[in-house]
Amino acid sequence: MQRAEEYFGFLERLVRVPSVAGEERAAQELLASRLETLGFASRWIPLTADLAELPGAGRPCSSLHGRSSLVCERSGESAASVLINGHIDVVPAGDPSLWTGAPFAQFRRDGWMVGRGAGDMKGGLVMALLALHALHDHNALGGRISFVVVPEEESSGNGTLATLRAGVTADAAILPEPTDLNIDVSGIGVLWCEIEVTGSGAHAGGRRSANPLDQLTAVARTIADLTAETAAGDVEARARHVYYNANLGQAEAGDWPSSVPTRARGVMRIGFPAPLSAAAMEERIRDAVARLEHDAACAGCTTRLAFPGLRAEPHALPVDHPLVTAVAEAHSAAHATTSRVLHTSSTSDARFYVNQAKVPAVCYGPVVSAIHGVDEAVDLSSIVAGAKTYARLIPALLAGLRPRPRSSA
Ligand SMILES: [Zn+2]
Repeated sequence: MQRAEEYFGFLERLVRVPSVAGEERAAQELLASRLETLGFASRWIPLTADLAELPGAGRPCSSLHGRSSLVCERSGESAASVLINGHIDVVPAGDPSLWTGAPFAQFRRDGWMVGRGAGDMKGGLVMALLALHALHDHNALGGRISFVVVPEEESSGNGTLATLRAGVTADAAILPEPTDLNIDVSGIGVLWCEIEVTGSGAHAGGRRSANPLDQLTAVARTIADLTAETAAGDVEARARHVYYNANLGQAEAGDWPSSVPTRARGVMRIGFPAPLSAAAMEERIRDAVARLEHDAACAGCTTRLAFPGLRAEPHALPVDHPLVTAVAEAHSAAHATTSRVLHTSSTSDARFYVNQAKVPAVCYGPVVSAIHGVDEAVDLSSIVAGAKTYARLIPALLAGLRPRPRSSA
């Protein structure tokens, strides 16, 4: 595909911008100027605190000051409109010394580009751009297309909610999240839970006093057990390869080996199945932890729960929806292979289109490895492969989704 190397270079520039929460703007501006050369007009929709009141919203953990969602739109005649949504925020790199190179320096290795955010999801954003540029080169870029680039996907989803509140919608939405060129139609519920345990501290050699870190561990174990018990309600999960994990992703406690800590704090990410809501899962967690607090071993500690960040409701598009068929057909036409329909064990902003806006949405994006981990990478050839699918899919969606064929039975 022409321009592939040009866009790999553009991906290098994007990865070099460490667009962690609060630092997304510079990377968004790179995308805005690229889209403007393709005839898109860009505007910015600021993130505001009141977004957190909307159904499905998360509770942002970092300042919203100066943060906006980028909306780039192209007008034109088409039977239907299409929207591409991608997030520009990336998760922190972890310990940089564990990486082969500096996490945001990016480098290429055996056809892959390594760097934080290369896989989740700057590679996908570049994939969609490459497709649009290919259509532009063939004078085939026309119709109503919106390209939405949001912050806050990893921690609340409120960037996409801001665009929906501003009326940015379409007849179909596609998200180039990493799916290994498969079609991801659903997402599980995801809730973050902050656990803070305080005690009064003591000399480690004194009569055994309640240790907040022990209590934090006990609470985390209780929540993990509850998550497993709740997940058992989804009897088809295994067949769909869906996992509801509870992950203690952050923890801190204490400041001296010979002192009992005065405080321990942890933050968990908890997966849960439909039809539970985030509010219902929160209530279950609060009940389970309250029962634990009656345990004598916790005497002397105070446990406080809070639910900042993600409060993602489960979502699912029917596997026989015309949008799924359209993506599958575009993939087959581009590659003469079949794309699989996937159900992920995490979530994406597709949930807001499906749940809130009633717009069909799927994820379809490049082949990646180690996203959120050390040496995260994207397979560069899959960016080209995915762009070939999008170059067929976008005109097909602009022509309008075909209604589901009636069953002959
Ligand atoms: Zn992502």
